[in-house]
Amino acid sequence: MGSAILASWPWDNLGFYKYVLYGPLVGKAAASRAWEAASPDRWILLLLVLFGLRALTYQLWSSYSNMLFATRRRRIVRDGVDFDQIDREWDWCVPYIHTGSDPLPAHGAIIGNVVYGCRDNFLILQVLMAATAFYAFPTLRHLPLWDARGLAVAVLVHVVATEPLFYAAHRAFHASGLLYARYHSLHHSSKVPQPFTAGLATPLESIVLGALMALPLAAACAAGCGSVALAFGYVLTFDFLRAMGHCNVEVFPSSLFQAIPVLRYLIYTPTYHTIHHTKREANFCLFMPLFDLLGGTLDDHSREMQKQTSAGVDEVPDFVFLAHVVDVMQSLHVPFVLRTFAATPFSVQLFLLPMWPFAFLVMLAMWVWSKTFVISCYNLRGRLHQMWAVPRYGFQYFLPFAKDGINKQIELAILRADKMGVKVLSLAALNKNEALNGGGTLFVNKHPDLRVRVVHGNTLTAAVILNEIPKGTTEVFMTGATSKLGRAIALYLCKKRVRVMMMTLSTERFQKIQKEAPAEFQPYLVQVTKYRSAQHCKTWIVGKWLSPREQRWAPAGTHFHQFVVPPIIGFRRDCTYGKLAAMRLPKDVQGLGACEYSLERGVVHACHAGGVVHFLEGYTHHEVGAIDVDRIDVVWEAALKHGLRPA
Ligand SMILES: [Zn+2]
Ligand SMILES: [Zn+2]
Repeated sequence: MGSAILASWPWDNLGFYKYVLYGPLVGKAAASRAWEAASPDRWILLLLVLFGLRALTYQLWSSYSNMLFATRRRRIVRDGVDFDQIDREWDWCVPYIHTGSDPLPAHGAIIGNVVYGCRDNFLILQVLMAATAFYAFPTLRHLPLWDARGLAVAVLVHVVATEPLFYAAHRAFHASGLLYARYHSLHHSSKVPQPFTAGLATPLESIVLGALMALPLAAACAAGCGSVALAFGYVLTFDFLRAMGHCNVEVFPSSLFQAIPVLRYLIYTPTYHTIHHTKREANFCLFMPLFDLLGGTLDDHSREMQKQTSAGVDEVPDFVFLAHVVDVMQSLHVPFVLRTFAATPFSVQLFLLPMWPFAFLVMLAMWVWSKTFVISCYNLRGRLHQMWAVPRYGFQYFLPFAKDGINKQIELAILRADKMGVKVLSLAALNKNEALNGGGTLFVNKHPDLRVRVVHGNTLTAAVILNEIPKGTTEVFMTGATSKLGRAIALYLCKKRVRVMMMTLSTERFQKIQKEAPAEFQPYLVQVTKYRSAQHCKTWIVGKWLSPREQRWAPAGTHFHQFVVPPIIGFRRDCTYGKLAAMRLPKDVQGLGACEYSLERGVVHACHAGGVVHFLEGYTHHEVGAIDVDRIDVVWEAALKHGLRPA
């Protein structure tokens, strides 16, 4: 396939250096001070600006398409966009954080752990085509700003030439098996159309499209009425419509076509082009279905399907993971900001800095107005799972005056899930804070008739931590020992005859937990009040932030297991540090295309996994408040049975 002429990009091997192709243009623009009105090379600057705006058009449509909270009812293909598709379409003007375990993209330059590249191959090609035209016809360099006659010429040529020629070329790409396989199957390889899918094309397709785009503009110029505004307006409208057709969200109200029936043949809809992507033997047109009508390739169900998608359907997830925002930087780690960035584990990156002030304002606005909203989704065994975010940031959970507002938000989300028919809702991170709402107890007590099961998922968190402790361990040291997880871990371990040094200053709280253990195991629970006591213990279970000085007490070779949020910083080079408890989702998960915070692809926090298990097993109880120690092994076995694996 790669050997066919113009089936692959000649600069694929150049990686990031393909941008050198812009070099001569940028250099010439700089040398001639193209930003000054009198510069002879002003056209170069305009050309580069135009191509920047083109890329932005696709990015904005992608953001819109991924705003599930606004678009989910009118999505056309209901599947999520998975990592494979994002990788195939990734090389747009967006950096890609490369992690060790993911396969390296075919091209792109690696700087640090960020791979830079673009699915802007067609944009580069078309810049070069345009620049060639400017060199061949120097008169083009001095177009007037605006000429109304040019618009009339361009529209006419678009309708009588660009549209029918595209239609014919597109049909030809589908008619021959060889042509399709070599040149067009790439465009059809994405399961869920996305604005970036429009740019997923072979060089031959991009040359054809570039030439067809140039026709109306060339005609206007030849007629002596071309203009700068026409070039910008036509090209950006072209991109706007291409991106719209691939956005997978129906944007036209059906009533519009009811009121003006002829419009059905003048402008395509996202539904219309999506039918082409799924069926492949109909709806070939560029933007005007008129040509499918004339060619006899208009899919009969197009109109009916558009009616349905524009009316919208509410899908009810069976499982919801109710998260919250961590901080302003992390708020940018969502598919509707940069899809490729959200598809890699979160880490702070330099390219986020310019967006920070805007994200900060969004945070303030959300504090005032926003309700819980949908961020992402995936499918597991035919069931829809969604991630919702409470519009509150980590630091707000530590403001005493914000507590009631946060609980109100969580309560509203639970009630909404209950009304919708969600089966299980799992509370993430700080949303199940003991001090905030007693690990969810508050809501279950207040609303005894809930049908949705509220789950903190910490039984599985405890199971994951316990299963990381090597068999044969006889002694552990634990901080945060009287917390929800600390208590459960201590009670579990003492029954296995492991001596647990519980670090706490409160003898009362220690004794309360100790009394819960059967008498024969109580001696295995020991209260300690100083880190010094752990200086010979190599297994530390950390449930509370540890300063460097406190970490110094651990002997060399210690492993720090953790259940503290945020995780402790590893100061000790001679020790090892565990990550937060997490599990890998089953292999048959579908449509997963976002990473959960800093976790690897396909891995979710143990409390998320705990909710999934709760749903898959059909447990009928709420899992709130204290952890039932006897259920730790039950939940662990169930998780493994359903194909979840330790991360
Ligand atoms: Zn398409
Ligand atoms: Zn096609």
